[in-house]
Amino acid sequence: MEFVNQFRDAEIVKKLRKRLDEFHFTEEVKIMEVCGTHTMQIHRFGIHQMLPENVKLISGPGCPVCVTPNSYIDFAIELAKKGVMITTFGDMIRVPGSRSSLERARAEGANVRVVYSPMDALELAGKGEEEVVFLAIGFETTAPTIAATVKKAKDEGIKNFSVLSGGKLVPPALVALSQDPELKISGFLLPGHVSVIIGKKAYLFLKDYRKPGVISGFEPVDILHSIIALLEMIEREEPDIINNYKRAVRDQGNLVAQRVMEEVFEPADSEWRGIGEIPASGLVLSEPYRDMEAMNRFSVEIPPPEEHPGCRCGDVLKGVLNPPECPLFGKVCTPENPIGPCMVSSEGSCSAWYKYG
Ligand code: SF4
Repeated sequence: MEFVNQFRDAEIVKKLRKRLDEFHFTEEVKIMEVCGTHTMQIHRFGIHQMLPENVKLISGPGCPVCVTPNSYIDFAIELAKKGVMITTFGDMIRVPGSRSSLERARAEGANVRVVYSPMDALELAGKGEEEVVFLAIGFETTAPTIAATVKKAKDEGIKNFSVLSGGKLVPPALVALSQDPELKISGFLLPGHVSVIIGKKAYLFLKDYRKPGVISGFEPVDILHSIIALLEMIEREEPDIINNYKRAVRDQGNLVAQRVMEEVFEPADSEWRGIGEIPASGLVLSEPYRDMEAMNRFSVEIPPPEEHPGCRCGDVLKGVLNPPECPLFGKVCTPENPIGPCMVSSEGSCSAWYKYG
């Protein structure tokens, strides 16, 4: 606790706020926080209110369940209805698909289990004959654990375990966002957890797009300090990548995690809710493990995906709309009755605005 308190020290926060007040931008500066945990912490600590004039923080596509398209959820629901055991992290169960959710499918009798790790799902498969599918969504943070589980299943010859690949890679999304002329992003507050795995080196390409980036921790002192570092680079017009979370992130990242991820997965084009298809931004199983892909193992017929007509999650995920600007926010759509995925997860922007906004 002592350690955490240093990063919440009121005196340090006061000094950082003073430094923020010294910036004067005549044009709008837009900083995108890419990570859902940052979004939550920024709201929780009231950081929007501390920013200088003309500086805006916008949320990006950093919540894994939020960027997962309806077609993926529809496929999982259909599998569950067919009698396959679906195992998933907790948030995913409440995310509405086109016509239902896994939670509703479970209430109607489908075998849907919430697990804390993919290894729990493998254990369930090892205990019986039933087909068990793990919903493999998430970013580079969760991919190594899922990869290690797939490898273990193969090594141990567990034949009734498979994964529904839906993992996503952050750097290709940053390329897409940097190239989007509508967004006009001035710089990125880079994710802490993902960076533990991929390291600072994975973001150096951002300099080619003249976008500065700062890898940040999650406490108020971390976030304010990182915003100041970004604003200094924007002011000087000298974009660079700074690792401001050295207590957890190494420049090269976690090489062991990267190795297992590269062995089991390979990049593929992937659809992101709100952004569309991004080249080489998804993770699918590599050739030696492809027989463990649920999409190949099971054939299900699903109608074309549909979006809820009023939900503006796509625009929220791209940072072009603040959640309260969605007409359903807080009226029809609440954390108890989420219409879109951005209201489900605690890392979702709509949920963070609802709770702290
Ligand atoms: S408030 Fe609800 S309906 Fe509106 S964008 Fe967010 S999740 Fe979608």
